[in-house]
Amino acid sequence: MEMTNNRISKFAKLLIKVGLNVQKGQPVVITCPVDCADFARLCAKEAYDAGCREVIMNWADDQMVRMKYLHAYDSIFDTVPQWRADMYNSLSAEGAAWLVIHSEDPESMNGVDPERLRRSSVASGKALKPYRDRQMVNFFPWCIASVPSLAWAKKVFPCISDEEAMDKLWNAILDASRVFEDTDPVKEWEEHCETLRRHVEIMNGYDFEYLEYKNSLGTDLTVKLPENHIWAGGSEETQVSKIPFCANIPTEEIFGAPLKTGVDGVVYASKPLVINGTIVDKFSFRLEKGKIVDVQAEVGLEMLKSAIAVDEGASYLGEVALVPYHSPISQSGLLFYNTLFDENAACHIAFGEGYACVKGGTEMTRDELTAAGINDSIMHEDFMVGTPDLSVIGVTKDGRRIPVMVDGDFAF
Ligand code: ZN
Ligand code: ZN
Repeated sequence: MEMTNNRISKFAKLLIKVGLNVQKGQPVVITCPVDCADFARLCAKEAYDAGCREVIMNWADDQMVRMKYLHAYDSIFDTVPQWRADMYNSLSAEGAAWLVIHSEDPESMNGVDPERLRRSSVASGKALKPYRDRQMVNFFPWCIASVPSLAWAKKVFPCISDEEAMDKLWNAILDASRVFEDTDPVKEWEEHCETLRRHVEIMNGYDFEYLEYKNSLGTDLTVKLPENHIWAGGSEETQVSKIPFCANIPTEEIFGAPLKTGVDGVVYASKPLVINGTIVDKFSFRLEKGKIVDVQAEVGLEMLKSAIAVDEGASYLGEVALVPYHSPISQSGLLFYNTLFDENAACHIAFGEGYACVKGGTEMTRDELTAAGINDSIMHEDFMVGTPDLSVIGVTKDGRRIPVMVDGDFAF
């Protein structure tokens, strides 16, 4: 730990300065597991240094959540305490900056009734809808990052001592986040975001009608893109004040939204996925007119089926993201069992809620986005589809076929 302490402080600063870009007088909400309180304090200190009005803590604890799902009265899974809804909905209306620090045990929910998890996400989806809607249009800045927990570190590095596993996971997270001893991560991130912006501009320039995905796993998928769609990636801007922020650190993706009813074919996942603390692996979807009509999975089929059944939109796609197969995270060769990292190691697709990836989308109401072909759901779950032999071809409105990804990497 000694060796990485300076890097950890730099990481906290990166999250506050680049992730949230905290402004003077802005409230900051930090969601963090109790086990990582030291790291939350580092972030809070940076937030006060940046002039924030107040840091509001939203403590989390995997073990308490697990106990609740196993032992609480069944009736509570359809409700959300009023104070909790009020906190999310009122602070988001004020434009607070939201930092979410994850440190999950990838298997903390093993054995929990998926039906309880489903009912719970329906209830919080409804109660926190004002917050979620504001998040989707960047009404406030938000940033998601991860720090190690022992359970997670041991899952990624199973055969070494606890301390070594924690050290290795910290180093892997800091490497992936471009936080090094002798460089300024804030500057590194500006350059990285510039590269992502270049790819976004090229994709927007082609204005593809649809993308064709193919690889040797068996993926053969056609993804139509909505009229006036746009690609995004790297930093984003808040809706009103146009303050740049970075919603995920690390991030390697550029992303867009598919036309809700315009996806056909078969797509195979290239990595396992953790949904609600349960591992789902070796799975595929068959889609017709955008809807998932068949699901196969060798591991976690029930959890996957329950995830796409949360609401009507959960069985449609909401995101297509392009990530070079040779990104730093992919180069690490690690499977993180954490979507924030694994999604940045490979091209991915999400089922559920679509981002506002159409021109003027962040100014649109939810109904207008639906009319523009963007999927609506309380679910948004990324799964990896990228492989070293993935080919993505973009087809323009006048029928030109442009290679976008060749052998897993950008063609431009
Ligand atoms: Zn993504
Ligand atoms: Zn996503």
